[in-house]
Amino acid sequence: MGRHSKHYLDIMTPEQLIALDQQHVWHPYASMDNPPPAYPVVSAHGVRLTLVDGTQLIDGMASWWCAVHGYNHPHLNDAMTQQIADMSHVMFGGITHTPAVTLAKRLVDMTPAGLEKVFFADSGSVAVEVAIKMALQYWHSKGQANKQKLVTIRNGYHGDTFGAMAVCDPVNGMHSLFAGVLPQHHFISAPAMGFDRPLEAGDLDELEHKLQQHQDEIAALILEPIVQGAGGMRFYSPAWLKAAAELCKQYNVLLIADEIATGFGRSGALFACDHANVRPDIMCLGKAITGGTMSFAATLTTTEIATSISRGEASCFMHGPTFMANPLACAVANASLDLLEQNDWKAQVDGLNQALKQQLEPALKLEYVEDVRVLGAIGVVQVTDPVDLGRIQEMLVAEGVWVRPFGKLVYVMPPYVMSPQDLALLCQGMLRALTTYFKETHDGAH
Ligand SMILES: *Cc1c(COP(=O)(O)O)cnc(C)c1O
Repeated sequence: MGRHSKHYLDIMTPEQLIALDQQHVWHPYASMDNPPPAYPVVSAHGVRLTLVDGTQLIDGMASWWCAVHGYNHPHLNDAMTQQIADMSHVMFGGITHTPAVTLAKRLVDMTPAGLEKVFFADSGSVAVEVAIKMALQYWHSKGQANKQKLVTIRNGYHGDTFGAMAVCDPVNGMHSLFAGVLPQHHFISAPAMGFDRPLEAGDLDELEHKLQQHQDEIAALILEPIVQGAGGMRFYSPAWLKAAAELCKQYNVLLIADEIATGFGRSGALFACDHANVRPDIMCLGKAITGGTMSFAATLTTTEIATSISRGEASCFMHGPTFMANPLACAVANASLDLLEQNDWKAQVDGLNQALKQQLEPALKLEYVEDVRVLGAIGVVQVTDPVDLGRIQEMLVAEGVWVRPFGKLVYVMPPYVMSPQDLALLCQGMLRALTTYFKETHDGAH
């Protein structure tokens, strides 16, 4: 088979492709019973996705926080090509390699001081499982095996595996479906919204009461620092995070920061914990770690925790995925870190922040808009009624933009490389599609 020989399935018409997709292929959070058609993408370059019919869409999603440097970046492609020539993969049990060691050292250097031990995982959800397991194994090694519960804030999202799902928001994370099998953890209200909101008396009371009552069984507080992503696109204040971190110390509870969405600059700080000068005990990274090229993640912790686990009953940390520290993923992650530095991520994100505010804040006066909020390179337009995803997606695509709303949240987190011109096209296209959509639903209601 030469490079250009094609299986008959490769020369399907777009209609055949979509039909087979609907018949056989599951999509994220999707029905398999008469699913809406998915849009076939044939290539992606810079900030644009190209559909099979040649339509180009400006990408507002960065493939769910990941593609921070844009698509098809030559530096990322070169790193992968060179690594393939050496080895795409080799087991990590008893073996090591430069891409993994280099990446670990760079992550240790860039994350808050004190996070020194790196566990490489294959996806964000797995990194969260690893973090939870580290916390439990740590307390076990300290002779406090009863500390097996977590406390978390509502509106969180931490992934789709069982351990992670158990700390997602109990309502929009659909705990009722799995009530019998999910571990039961402690939930407190999400912090009040507003990055700049000053701390008020009582803001931490609920957390403190939980910790007071249950510190004997609580291993860790797990949260998304500053930005709650898929659970509501909410921003809260560094002051709250700082105070919560102090309570954790006071009550002998670890702090797990899930920076899978926020890591690598997205919120305007390199890590969202940096806004509050907080060093968590365990930190999860993922998504943008490979610049949107490969599934990969990492869980970092302190020497104290790693050492204690290693001196515990098992004498080791009990986890080891098959594709742990995959060299190809490590190589492209290193290349992505190069680009963060070379491109001055801070200047990129600050530029997008200004432009997003300028483009989106005027939408506050539209009658169907409830709230507009912008932090770092994240822009959220919250509308008054949940949108019909299939219908609004058609209108967004017709405007030449790729934005994937959920519920009342229409939001963008563009690749950092997006030009001001493209950002204006993206935001204006998105707002035009929203206006068309709400005009249609409004007219339809009469
Ligand atoms: C996406 C996400 C995860 C899960 O990562 P996957 O790679 O999809 O498993 C976990 N936590 C947060 C905050 C996320 O945004």
